[in-house]
Amino acid sequence: MRVEILGTRAHIDVSAPGHALHSGILIDDVLFDLGEREYLERRPTAIFITHFHEDHAFFVNEDVDLDVPLYGPQPWPGLPVRVMRGPVDIDGMTVSPIPTNHSAGLRSCAYLVEKDLGRVLYTGDLFSFPQRYRDRIPDVDLAIIEGSFMRRGGLVRRDPATGRSHGHAGIPDLVDLLAPLSRRIVVTHLGSWFYRDIAASVQQIERLSGDVRVTVAVDGMTLEVAVDRDV
Ligand SMILES: [Zn+2]
Ligand SMILES: [Zn+2]
Repeated sequence: MRVEILGTRAHIDVSAPGHALHSGILIDDVLFDLGEREYLERRPTAIFITHFHEDHAFFVNEDVDLDVPLYGPQPWPGLPVRVMRGPVDIDGMTVSPIPTNHSAGLRSCAYLVEKDLGRVLYTGDLFSFPQRYRDRIPDVDLAIIEGSFMRRGGLVRRDPATGRSHGHAGIPDLVDLLAPLSRRIVVTHLGSWFYRDIAASVQQIERLSGDVRVTVAVDGMTLEVAVDRDV
């Protein structure tokens, strides 16, 4: 699988060269999240949305004319979203949703992408996985995690009206969770903390490496998920 991380910037006002575009990951010809209209120029054969926040789905506040299958964790007004209820086979790839906890009002999911014996996990935004799904995450060749917060615990708030929590995990929480399952971890969806001193922030993230290498994505970065297991 060829993985191209099109955009690495969270839903924030600051921007920098190399970290300017919102969420989008192209895996072969399939797109995961559509944070910028220009990603449609890549002519994906299908689009999977992790959740309908505008940095992952630019069209929640803009008109869009989509002529490719659109998948997501819930219906969306005016769009023919195919709601993910289980694995979907597309382009020789199997895409499975893993529900996540992130928003108080919207459904969200991570995606597990499997092709040619390779596996990639893209978390989207989350403060946690519900336990019953977390226990079922398999070993992966690459985990692409969100980087909204560097501090452990991230930021989780409770909606006083509904009692529901929403927010983001910290990068160390996600690394702790996924390092035992991953051959490599790449951090995207970078929050404002990252932009204060980008060189230092990159180092901070890379210091989380242990048995597993943890690196930072840059807009347009490509990775090859090669399956080099002995046959
Ligand atoms: Zn986001
Ligand atoms: Zn979000």
